[in-house]
Amino acid sequence: MINFNEPTLTGKETEYIRQAVTQNCMLCGDGPFTKKCNEWLRENTGVSSAMLTTSCTHALEMAAILCGIKEGDEVIMPSYTFCSTADAFVLRGAKIVFVDIRPDTMNIDEKKIEEAVTEKTRAIVPVHYAGVGCEMDEIMRIAKEHSLYVVEDAAQGIMASYKGKALGSFGDYGCISFHETKNFTMGEGGAILIRDDDNAPAAEIVREKGTNRSRFFRGEIDKYTWVDKGSSYLPSEMNAAYLWAQLETAENVFNDRMRKWELYRECLTDLSERGAVELPFIPEYVNHNAHMFYIKVRDIDERSSLIRYLKENGVHAVFHYVPLHSSPAGMKFGTMAGEDIYTTRESDRLIRLPLHYNLKDDDILYVCEKVKAFYDGGKR
Ligand SMILES: *Cc1c(COP(=O)(O)O)cnc(C)c1O
Repeated sequence: MINFNEPTLTGKETEYIRQAVTQNCMLCGDGPFTKKCNEWLRENTGVSSAMLTTSCTHALEMAAILCGIKEGDEVIMPSYTFCSTADAFVLRGAKIVFVDIRPDTMNIDEKKIEEAVTEKTRAIVPVHYAGVGCEMDEIMRIAKEHSLYVVEDAAQGIMASYKGKALGSFGDYGCISFHETKNFTMGEGGAILIRDDDNAPAAEIVREKGTNRSRFFRGEIDKYTWVDKGSSYLPSEMNAAYLWAQLETAENVFNDRMRKWELYRECLTDLSERGAVELPFIPEYVNHNAHMFYIKVRDIDERSSLIRYLKENGVHAVFHYVPLHSSPAGMKFGTMAGEDIYTTRESDRLIRLPLHYNLKDDDILYVCEKVKAFYDGGKR
């Protein structure tokens, strides 16, 4: 079976975990490995500070707290995303306002955001699907004009950029995931990126159970205490050690994924030129990170047949999000602003092909051969 995903493993992970366990004498959060990861993130994204978290979901929860989201506030986001994007704000009492996506990138349609803004709107949450940047110039313009926060769900966006600037570094907060399905992993984990220096102290407090322990550890105060609301959002050093092994060699992992992504594209160009499938669209001013290789087929029935056919041939391919506005919780906590022209239609047609660090080029050739056989052999 060619697995859809396998967690990235570059070689030094277990050695660093051993080091965390036996040498550093520090297993809780914010030890030497966490600091290295934070520094790497700060340098590679250009934000004022970055902090590892226990997940991207938790980074989003932190951002919702830091934006002061409260009962009755409205938050704008695409419906085509993972539930955590919405849930983090729902937990603070917000109502979610879903906006349709663009059919080309599967990202929120920036042209439909402004008409969804009301006097209750507090934040816009763009999601950079597949590591392909949203139209951040326009989104930041709208946010500025209406005094809104921007929280980027850059869960899939590490090492990708829009007009030369890292995804996750545009908004007030950027949220990254290091779940095992992402390009770099620590099992479960993530990070929050903080654009402005002024917001870092509050973020430290929210992340450290509402205490000023971070300042205490830096020797800035002689005892620490409970100063505001917060929770426990810092991962253990064992997880950070695993992640550091990958960030240290990030360029290799990145290049490997990009090469495999291009191989898929080359192999499937024929099919797309014949109009059988659509390949991902990358705007020219966007640098993506090969987080995902997807194709779009005619409709949901053709997708089910193709997934079944690939499975019979030893390939695990999968569909992606069921739009949130049609989920039970999405109906309870949110509404669609404007029409759902593309969200449901395009999500129904999308299928993700295997892409991970262990995947061999021959595997990719095999997957493409089977996709072609599906169309050529009248299997659809
Ligand atoms: C993976 C993902 C998340 C959740 O990340 P976790 O680290 O598992 O909490 C949120 N949003 C998007 C768009 C994702 O792809």
